Amino acid sequence: MNVIARDATAASIVVDYDKCIAEKGCRICIDVCPTDILVLDESDGKIRMAYDECWYCLPCEHDCPTKAIRVDIPYLLR
Ligand code: SF4
Ligand code: SF4
Repeated sequence: MNVIARDATAASIVVDYDKCIAEKGCRICIDVCPTDILVLDESDGKIRMAYDECWYCLPCEHDCPTKAIRVDIPYLLR
């Protein structure tokens, strides 16, 4: 089956910064991501995608201790 890539500017990872405990040293999502696309933005201490090469494999969402991270899986990949 051919899958047409979605607009690359649409970020697939959504972080709820009210729940995220990165300021307490949590780096679990960064550590478990196989593509190393999640980074800590040193300017404001928030978790972000460095670039959109997400595999939609979900360990970041499953392993986040506070359920702060959600992966928006494109409709065509569900
Ligand atoms: S695993 Fe969850 S709480 Fe920890 S840094 Fe990532 S988003 Fe924040
Ligand atoms: S879904 Fe997979 S590739 Fe995408 S950010 Fe999470 S761990 Fe990384």
